[in-house]
Amino acid sequence: MAMSLNDKLSGTTNYPGVYLMKDAEGKVIYVGKAKNLKKRLSSYFKQSGQKESRQIDLKTRVLIKKVLSFDTIITRTEKEALILESNLIKEYKPRYNVILKDDKRYPSLRLDIKSQYPGLNIVRKIEKNGARYFGPFSSSQAVRQTLKIIHKTFKLRKCKTKNFRKRLRPCLNYQIGICLAPCCLDVDKKTYNEIVKEVVLFLKGRTPELIKKIKEQMTSAAKDQDYERAAVLRDKMFALEKILEKQVAVTTDLKDRDVIAIADSPEISLIALLFVRGGYLLGKTRFSFTKTISTKAEMVSAFIRQYYEKTHFIPQEVLVPIPLEDTCVLEDWLTAINQKKVRILYPRRGEKVQLVKMAAHNAQNSLKDLTASTDAAIDISIRLQKRLRMDKMPERIECFDNSNISGTEPVAGMVVFENGKPNKSLYRKYKIKTVDKQNDYAYMAEILARRYGKGEKSKPYPDLLVVDGGKGHLNIALSIIKKFKLEKNFEIIGIAKKDATRGETNDKIYQPGRANPVNFGRAGDLLLFLQRIRDEAHRFAISFHRKRRNKRSIHSVFDTVPGIGKKRKETLLKHFGSIDRISKATLEELVSLPGINRKIAEALKLK
Ligand code: SF4
Repeated sequence: MAMSLNDKLSGTTNYPGVYLMKDAEGKVIYVGKAKNLKKRLSSYFKQSGQKESRQIDLKTRVLIKKVLSFDTIITRTEKEALILESNLIKEYKPRYNVILKDDKRYPSLRLDIKSQYPGLNIVRKIEKNGARYFGPFSSSQAVRQTLKIIHKTFKLRKCKTKNFRKRLRPCLNYQIGICLAPCCLDVDKKTYNEIVKEVVLFLKGRTPELIKKIKEQMTSAAKDQDYERAAVLRDKMFALEKILEKQVAVTTDLKDRDVIAIADSPEISLIALLFVRGGYLLGKTRFSFTKTISTKAEMVSAFIRQYYEKTHFIPQEVLVPIPLEDTCVLEDWLTAINQKKVRILYPRRGEKVQLVKMAAHNAQNSLKDLTASTDAAIDISIRLQKRLRMDKMPERIECFDNSNISGTEPVAGMVVFENGKPNKSLYRKYKIKTVDKQNDYAYMAEILARRYGKGEKSKPYPDLLVVDGGKGHLNIALSIIKKFKLEKNFEIIGIAKKDATRGETNDKIYQPGRANPVNFGRAGDLLLFLQRIRDEAHRFAISFHRKRRNKRSIHSVFDTVPGIGKKRKETLLKHFGSIDRISKATLEELVSLPGINRKIAEALKLK
């Protein structure tokens, strides 16, 4: 096979283009682009020491061994290669490319500038709908903290747009002085717009500029002997100065920059991104990847393309920690989507180098934390494998639980832990379809059959299946798994609650073929780990059951009120959000809704 790679290599051209590396099954496992296809591909496959051999580390060398063939597509320019490479990565999702996960969405703030009185809300998805977005913020806590400061300092309205339109009187935010109540009071639109402009400056990191502006307004108000306004402006200025004290000034110019750094270990590569706005460090975030054939420079380049394709703000400068081969192409591409010049710089001296070093320090620290938590998770998986005498390490664990009250609305939930951590995107909810009476065993049999009885479609299988219950549950699970001839594909255990009346102090883990529960001895953390998985399945199933029950109770409450049909039900729920809020609404609030007359409102109040 090595020969055929070499043969292919000698037939490859020196033109720019894209290459697709394939494994033994012909599956595309890596897509890359190159200015010179022959030179690039030779760098992978020629032996070290040979001319044009690429400086690749051991990890990449191991991954390259999985490549058994490749295809190339020639393009006219490097830019075309860049676009084609992006499209092919999206299409094939090759396992050894750097791919930013869609579910890794950081919170941002959305300002609905189309509204007469715009407000801010937290979102995780950026939509092209005319709104302005700010962020991303590193966590929900960081975005909430910023929002709190904004409401306290600027008095921007706090309610959601749909509620704002329907308000009949100001809410508590007006009473406590953090909103001007444009919902009900006659707030001058010009004044409110000025507030919005200030909020935008603040969110763009232009706090010093904002303070200067407010100071000028304060001086002018004092000159006009409008002392009340001057005092309000003074308080706002002090509040902003206090915030500014906590922000770190990192450059002397006022430019917006993103600073990228990369750190990697044999298992994980991590990119840290610092946001510098107006010379101040406003936030940071990180992205991690495992197993990639890319070099560091290729990883940074892939990151830039994927990250800025989706983000709502591209700064004037992006600082990178390493020279990139495709800097000019990337700059053109970023400038085209930003419609303003964007530069990618690899700084060598001055403040910018310090910024790159700061980002590198952050990347190293984050990698250390990530590696420690990954190592701990791997360690626990290895020890669990030993304790349960499993053939394979339990990399993927699935756990089921069901929930019902006296057989009503029975549901089940499946949670998935991968490498010791929950992967919520793989969780599944099930409504029990075939069992009428309350019967835990029958519920479980139905759900396991639905999860594992679909042949190829049921893949991937877990390495370990955990069922909530003792020997009885375990036997049912085993019989279902045997029915589908899957007993050799994964291990099954049952986790049963301790029986305190019998003096038991710990939950028990049952395995097929073992009469007594597994003895964990001093390895109590293994039991805790399994309990954590069981508790997560329990929480997931219960919350699903609760949602179903609430929906049902909402309908049953409405069904007893004369005159309430589907449309009115929807109107009430859309406006108030819950039965509880409907019951607390005043008669005036109820009759203000379309289709709700006084008679219906009174009937609702009697409920
Ligand atoms: S006072 Fe009015 S505008 Fe302000 S947050 Fe409350 S409902 Fe919204």
